[in-house]
Amino acid sequence: MEDSSKYLHPDKETLSRPELEALQLERLKQTVKHCMNSPFYKKKFDEMGLSPDDIKSLDDVRKLPFTTKQDLRDTYPFGLASVPLRKCIRLHSSSGTTGNPTVILHTQKDIDEWANAVARCLWMVGLRPDDVFQNSSGYGMFTGGLGFQYGAERLGALTVPAAAGNSLRQIKFMKDFGTTALHAVPSYVTRLYEVMKQEGVDPRTDTKLKVLAIGAEPHSEAQRQRIEEMLGVKAYNSFGMSEMCGPGVGFECEYQNGLHFWEDYYIVEIVDPQTLEPVPDGEIGELVLTTLNREAMPLLRYRTRDLTRVLGRTCPCGRNHVRLDRMRGRSDDMIVLRGVNIFPIQIEMILMKFKELGNNYLITLTTDDDNDNMTVEVELAGLFTDDYPSLKALEKNITRALKDEILLTPHVKLVPQGSLPVSEGKAVRVVDKRKVYQ
Ligand code: ADP
Ligand code: ZN
Repeated sequence: MEDSSKYLHPDKETLSRPELEALQLERLKQTVKHCMNSPFYKKKFDEMGLSPDDIKSLDDVRKLPFTTKQDLRDTYPFGLASVPLRKCIRLHSSSGTTGNPTVILHTQKDIDEWANAVARCLWMVGLRPDDVFQNSSGYGMFTGGLGFQYGAERLGALTVPAAAGNSLRQIKFMKDFGTTALHAVPSYVTRLYEVMKQEGVDPRTDTKLKVLAIGAEPHSEAQRQRIEEMLGVKAYNSFGMSEMCGPGVGFECEYQNGLHFWEDYYIVEIVDPQTLEPVPDGEIGELVLTTLNREAMPLLRYRTRDLTRVLGRTCPCGRNHVRLDRMRGRSDDMIVLRGVNIFPIQIEMILMKFKELGNNYLITLTTDDDNDNMTVEVELAGLFTDDYPSLKALEKNITRALKDEILLTPHVKLVPQGSLPVSEGKAVRVVDKRKVYQ
């Protein structure tokens, strides 16, 4: 592939909708047949009286059973495999906070296809073999590590597997190796910038950085804009999940108008989480994905729990792969406080509007005198001031803005920069200490 080419996979990226849908149907039929090798799906199909031959059009995807995270747990570790274990060369597992973790198996072909998908995303935002790609994401079981590693290598970039944390070393690598592209979770990018400031490093003049890939955790548009201003480069939203290999599922193009989900790899459905019926384009619902070219462990209609909506199916970049809005969070991240539904991202969106505030915040839910309450601790942007009246006035303004958004009055607490915990992986934004009444 020529370095100057706009697309890494033009034959897939620029398909017209009818061509793309024809490819999807062909791959869906193969996938469904292949799933019959998995005892789990075989049993499901038998129970439903369904045969792979019943899939005749793309709409027939709706005849297929849903698959849930619970199904992955119930069949732990290898019950969803569609190939013998000896054909598999790697497994990843996602953090199971309750019960069994989920395990995803990969064949050599799966790893290759995954690398191709990530390479396509990175190429789309301008990475070329001349680039130096630093991956400041956790390695090991977390798919952001090896997923981006293989993708950037596939593209031919010089790849620096820096892994997460140790900001001083990250900055040294960036300077010494001439890092041009960096991948990290957004909460870590803001931390890295704070350390740069402390060290007197100006990313605009002291590094060669030109592009950022940020993702793996929900973040608001305001947070992205802050990150772009801090580092002076474009930051592209990257979506992935271990059940779908990892990164490389959805990624923004140069227009930053939503995430292109690769429809030669997945069938994308947005459904009402209650009725499981499809919702019209533009309406928020749960993202449901069917894998189209997975060998070891294809998944049919996997309920991601992520909430988003379709923004469009065309784009000035020339790709007709569906564009989805940034994730609102997962339905299981939703806070229900005194009967009101709140997503942490709504709170972040408001906090980021205040220039006086930094990037780190923590939402704590408590039960006090039988009432459930929310405290929002947020770091100040600059040095902590002991100008008590102005701090109080700021707290009041933030409280009012939050109340307008979430319809409840939280307790807002301003804290000095660097005083809230920072995690090396995904940020922990909510701590729930409420009493549970039986
Ligand atoms: P775990 O399930 O242990 O959190 P994963 O790495 O598989 O591990 O997490 C995938 C989830 O991370 C997605 O389902 C989604 O909720 C979240 N996520 C990933 N990328 C993004 C993104 N760009 N924006 C918002 N949320 C994201
Ligand atoms: Zn585009």
